[in-house]
Amino acid sequence: MGETGYPSDAYLLSMVAGVFIVIGGFVIFPIGIIGVVIGIFTIYTASTLKTNPKGHDTAGTLIVIFSFLSIIGSLGGLLIGFLLGLIGGILAIQWKPPAASSRQQVMNACSNCGTVVPSGVDFCTNCGTPVQK
Ligand SMILES: [Zn+2]
Repeated sequence: MGETGYPSDAYLLSMVAGVFIVIGGFVIFPIGIIGVVIGIFTIYTASTLKTNPKGHDTAGTLIVIFSFLSIIGSLGGLLIGFLLGLIGGILAIQWKPPAASSRQQVMNACSNCGTVVPSGVDFCTNCGTPVQK
């Protein structure tokens, strides 16, 4: 199980997007103060992908919205921030927790007696042999 429990690609892309949106805001200061604020919100929202992965769809939607807003306040994060935020936000929305996807369907067969037992069960329900993972 090398999968991460949070959308790591979306997290990284959105973090970098937020940084570029902040930079873009500074480039067109003082009106870019809007972009700086949007960029900080983007970074904060991206951080919630790690701290609260269950809110990935809401966070992803917000990141997409911030990316579009950055066109006004920060030259689209010098375009890079806009593109990375758009991709990161969509990845965050589409992300599925690893446990809910395929793992529940897997059944294991006991190596001793061949009885099929559900995954998550540590010992064979027939003979008590430890189930290989
Ligand atoms: Zn068995």
